[in-house]
This record gives sequence, C-alpha cells and structure tokens, in this order.
Amino acid sequence: MIFQEFGNKEQDYKASNIEYKEKKNYNYKIECKVCGYTFYRQRMNKNFTRKYRCGKCGGKFLVEEI
Ligand SMILES: [Zn+2]
Repeated sequence: MIFQEFGNKEQDYKASNIEYKEKKNYNYKIECKVCGYTFYRQRMNKNFTRKYRCGKCGGKFLVEEI
C-alpha cells in the first residue's frame, strides 16, 4: 500500500517535470501522423523523418517547429 502511493507520487513528479522541460527548452514537436503519439526534441536534422518511425505503430512523423 505504502509502496504503491510512493510510486504514484514519483510518476506525478516525473510527468510535471517533463511538461516543464517541454515548454522551456524544446524547439521541435514530433507527432506521429498515424496514431498521434507526440514528443519533443531540442535539435532536429533533415533526415529525422526518414530515419525514424513511430515506435508504437510504425507510422511516419510530422515535425513542427515550436
Ligand atoms: Zn504512431
């Protein structure tokens, strides 16, 4: 019971920490065209969408500068 509560708190902390970093430091938003899976990166190269595919569905990514 106690262990479970601790785990939840840690997850909440990590989630809020990631959100903070996204708003503060990241310049690019990468979104899967197929399933909508989204993540953020600081740097981007032109070959990113050719090299990488979505880990969940294998779809192509759409890169947006933010
Ligand atoms: Zn996908």
